[in-house]
Amino acid sequence: MTDIQELLLSRIRDVADYPEPGVLFKDITPLLADPAAFTALTDAFAEIAARTGATKVVGLEARGFILGAPVALRAGLGFIPVRKAGKLPGATLSQAYDLEYGSAEIEVHAEDLATGDRVLIVDDVLATGGTAEASIQLIRRAGARVAGVAVLMELGFLDGRPRLEAALDGAPLESL
Ligand code: AMP
Repeated sequence: MTDIQELLLSRIRDVADYPEPGVLFKDITPLLADPAAFTALTDAFAEIAARTGATKVVGLEARGFILGAPVALRAGLGFIPVRKAGKLPGATLSQAYDLEYGSAEIEVHAEDLATGDRVLIVDDVLATGGTAEASIQLIRRAGARVAGVAVLMELGFLDGRPRLEAALDGAPLESL
């Protein structure tokens, strides 16, 4: 493990049985409160944005907003929020996806993405991959390409990686 990975890992708090029994919640608020760790994370994501030739950064509600916005600024790129349904005021594209129980829907402002854009998707945790996969579909439906997905951590036992790699079509899934 690198020094940066050790630093980041030391700033993630495991909270058992939150928000419901059986879930081990990965709390990144200690990392956000530590400027050295937050800067290291931002720099690592910005390097991925540069390496993948991204022209825009998409953050997934809500922690993807906190992590993605400084990455966009550091990389000199625009930031675009992908939000839960009903939160964006303009003309949107929507994508529904299945949860373990029920379904969810995410949206993006259609005018924020253009043909020719290459989008880096940023979030904190990759779990089942359902949210990121729906975001990939949304970005492509807007006419843009996906440069890659960057997450702080992945929960390997939920098999999000194979699911996303199938959806990514050769674009990288980078997990710090
Ligand atoms: P998924 O669509 O299953 O990959 O879930 C990803 C979303 O749920 C991300 O936006 C995460 O912030 C959140 N999430 C899922 N599992 C956890 C967990 N164990 N700890 C913290 N956040 C999680």
